[in-house]
Amino acid sequence: MKLAELFKQKQVFSLEVFPPKREAPIDSIYKTLDGLKALNPDFISVTYGAGGSENFEKTFHVAKSIKHDYNIESLAHLSCIGLNKDEVKTLLDEFKQGGIENILALRGDLNPSVKLSKDFRYACDLINFIRETGDFDIAGACYPETHPEAQSPEADIDFLKEKVEAGCTHLISQLFFDNEDFYRFLDRCEKKGINVPIEAGIMPVVNKAQIERMASLCGARLPKKFIKIMDKYENKPQQLHDAGIAYAVDQIVDLLTQGVDGVHLYTMNKPDTAFKIYRSIATLL
Ligand code: FAD
Repeated sequence: MKLAELFKQKQVFSLEVFPPKREAPIDSIYKTLDGLKALNPDFISVTYGAGGSENFEKTFHVAKSIKHDYNIESLAHLSCIGLNKDEVKTLLDEFKQGGIENILALRGDLNPSVKLSKDFRYACDLINFIRETGDFDIAGACYPETHPEAQSPEADIDFLKEKVEAGCTHLISQLFFDNEDFYRFLDRCEKKGINVPIEAGIMPVVNKAQIERMASLCGARLPKKFIKIMDKYENKPQQLHDAGIAYAVDQIVDLLTQGVDGVHLYTMNKPDTAFKIYRSIATLL
C-alpha cells in the first residue's frame, strides 16, 4: 500500500528500525521485528547507511521482510549523497522487484568517507529523480528546530516546500523533546502552504549513552524538564529507563490529543521499550 492512502484514513502510528550492524548477522533483525509486530504499527521504516551496496542490501532485505513476512507496510530509507543516477536507478529497480512501494528520500549526513555525488546534491534532486523514474510513494525528512546546516529557519522551510512540490506525499520529523517546537513548526509549514501530512518523530531516551550522543548529534533543544530528569536519574539505570519512557508517553499523548497526522517512534531496535510506550497509548490510536 502506498502510504499516502494510509494518511487519508487515520492518525498514523509508525516505527523506525535500523538493519543489523556490520558485525551482527542479518537474521538478528527478526527478534526485533517479532517484538515490534505486537505494537500493530501502520508501517515500519528501515534506515539506510550511506555508501556501499552492502548497506543497500541490508535495508532492502529488512524492508522486504517487514512487508512480506510480517505483513506490515514498509518504508525504505534511501540517501543519495554517495550515489549517481545509474546506481539509484538500479536500486529503484530492485525495490520495485521486491515489492517496495514507499521510499523516504534523503540527502544523508555529510561524511568525509562518502564521496559526494555529482548527480544528487540535495534530497530534492533524489525526489525529482524517483518521481520521474519509478512509481513510488515518496516521503521526506523535516526539522522542527531547523536543519543544523540551514542558512536560516526561513531558508530551511523554503527548501522543504521545494521538496514537497517535487513529490513528497508526507514528511517525518527529526526527533524533538518539546512539543511546542513541533506545533510552531506546523504553523510555519501551514503558512508556507506545505500541506502534506507531517509525522512527529519521537525518541525515548532511556540510557546514559543515549543522553550523551543526543546532545552532540541531532541538535535538538533539551527542555529544562527533560534535563532535570536526565540529571536526577543518569546514574540510576532503572529509574532513567522508566522516566524516559514516561517522558515519551507524555509527549505522544499530547501530540495525539492535538490531532497530529501521525507519530513515528524511533525504536532503536528495542522492542521492549517500544512496547512499554505502546501499552500506555494503545487505546488512543
Ligand atoms: P535536504 O532536504 O537536502 O536538506 C539538507 C540541507 O540542505 C538543509 O539544511 C536544507 O535547508 C538545505 N537545502 C536543501 N535544498 C537546498 C538547496 N536547493 N539549496 C541550498 N540548500 C538547500 N540519514 C541517513 O544517512 N540514513 C537514514 O536512514 C536517515 N534517516 C532519517 C530519517 C529521518 C526522519 C530524518 C529526519 C533524518 C534521517 N537521516 C538519515 C538524516 C539525514 O540524512 C540528515 O539529516 C541530512 O543531513 C539531511 O537530509 P535531508 O534529506 O533532510 O536533506
